[in-house]
Amino acid sequence: MHCYFCQRNIKEINFRDTRALEKFMSALGKIRSRKKTGLCAYHQRRLAQAIKRARFMALMSYTKE
Ligand SMILES: [Zn+2]
Repeated sequence: MHCYFCQRNIKEINFRDTRALEKFMSALGKIRSRKKTGLCAYHQRRLAQAIKRARFMALMSYTKE
């Protein structure tokens, strides 16, 4: 098994860690499929949540100022 997050013993993906998130996004900003990310089911799900949250926070910061 070569799940990026399991290997690093990361249980919760930090949505502020955009550098890590970007690894698993396509050039168009979409989440890559599990076949491409190589993540386990658990972390693939967590990744999707983290990316959604990161997008949401980005929207928030746009509208703040
Ligand atoms: Zn994993």
